[in-house]
Parts: sequence; structure tokens; C-alpha cells
Amino acid sequence: MNDSTERQGWLQGPHVAREPEPLPYQRAVRFVLLGPPGVGKGTQAERIVREFRACHLSTGDLFRAAKCAEHVSPAMRAAVACMQRGELVSDEIVIDLVRERSSCLRCHGGFLLDGFPRTILQARALDAILQDLGVELDAALAFELPIDEVIERLGGRRTCSGCAAVFHVVSRPPLREGICDHCRSTLFQRDDDREETIRVRMRVYEESTGPLIDYFARAGKLELVSASGDPDMVFERGKSAILGRLALTPQASVVA
Ligand code: AMP
Repeated sequence: MNDSTERQGWLQGPHVAREPEPLPYQRAVRFVLLGPPGVGKGTQAERIVREFRACHLSTGDLFRAAKCAEHVSPAMRAAVACMQRGELVSDEIVIDLVRERSSCLRCHGGFLLDGFPRTILQARALDAILQDLGVELDAALAFELPIDEVIERLGGRRTCSGCAAVFHVVSRPPLREGICDHCRSTLFQRDDDREETIRVRMRVYEESTGPLIDYFARAGKLELVSASGDPDMVFERGKSAILGRLALTPQASVVA
């Protein structure tokens, strides 16, 4: 999350214009992030958006923000209930939400889509949205981790109630227990990080999101990244995969 203005554009809907910042690399990056729950995707997303100044677009954050909002539509209330049970929200609702925010996909700094697409139907919808915008996806960055390591990591994850930063009680503890290092809000365990929900999410991931690996591979847009080891090592692997893609196509395809 590189900029609170852009984050508001994603979380609340209407995109707020701002002065473009200079980019640290030759061009903006446009990636989808894939990986089962607990693979460290949130941590890596944070570091990638900071490094490349891309906008972090997480559909999970949209539903978590809706959970705390005062006025939500009945469709959104049903979507939040699905999230709390660890089930996937319907394709229709998620695709509508992303389409409403499609201007974020043209962001000057590029984007990192986190949690979307999650099904083949959503992937096809994303292709169509990007085609309408004249924007080309660089690739899907798919983090992989053996299942027993996934289970070990999940129990300790804590999320900030203020800025959604992610910590881990063992591998990334906050300076003060239960308090966010960045904004001092309290940390909490997400409903969907509780054990019974995690089991459902793992099964849902295998069934729904697993086939996306093939989908992106067939399109020549898959970068597999091992998520084993400490977050710095994983980040370096992810970063070189991204830089490799930038080197392949130094000029991004985006209609001005
Ligand atoms: P995440 O933070 O990406 O793990 O998402 C948390 C929860 O939000 C998921 O377990 C789903 O219930 C819901 N969700 C987020 N993104 C999607 C999506 N693209 N399709 C369906 N459900 C989603």
C-alpha cells in the first residue's frame, strides 16, 4: 500500500486523482499475486508495492473494510458472511467490485492484484477488463509452499485493525505485543485465520484457485516463486521474477 489516496480509491470505490510519482524502475509493473493462505502473500505484497511503487489491490481488504463499514448493501453483507465462513464470495459480486474500481488498474505506478482472480471465471473477467482498458498484465506471481509449512505459519498471523499491515507472532513480531508498529492500532486475528476456517480455505484454494496456475501458464504469464525460507529470501526471488518480466518487455502496453 504505497499511498493512502490510492488505497482509498480502491477501498471506497471512486478513484482519487493525484500527482504521479517518478517510478523506481523503467516502467510500472502489473502483476497478479497467487498462493494458498499462509504462504506469506500479504508480507510479500507489502514489500513488492513498496519496492515498485505499485498500487496494492486486495479484494480481501475490500470485504474486511465492508465488515467494519456502517452502511453496506445486502449483497455485500452476504459477501462478508461468506468471507467469515472461509468460503469464496460469488464471482458475480467480486467481478462487479473490481469492475467498479477498474480505474485503479490504470494506476500510474501499476498494480499488484492480491486475491483476485480466484477462479477461472474471474480470470476471464480480468482479461476482459484489462483488454477494455488497453492494459496488459505482466504475469501472475505464484508463491508455492509445502502444505505442512503453510499450516505452521497460519496460526500466528496478526493483522492491524487500522492500516491492515500483517505481522506474525514468531517470524515478524510487532515491537509491542498486540500493537501495530506503523499506526499503533491494535492487532487482531482475522476470522478467516482461525483454524476451522483455514481448513475450509485450503480446500477452497485447491479446488478453485489451483486451476488458475494452468490458466496463466497456458497464457505464458506464470512466474512460480518458492515461498520457503525467510521473508527477505522470498522477496528477492519475487523481485527477480518481476525484473525478469520487465526485461522481457521494457515498454508496458497501456493506452494513454
Ligand atoms: P484474502 O484476504 O485474499 O485471503 O481474502 C479473504 C476472504 O475474502 C476470502 O477467504 C474470501 O472469502 C473473500 N475473497 C477475497 N477475494 C475473493 C475473490 N477474488 N473471490 C471470492 N472471494 C474472495
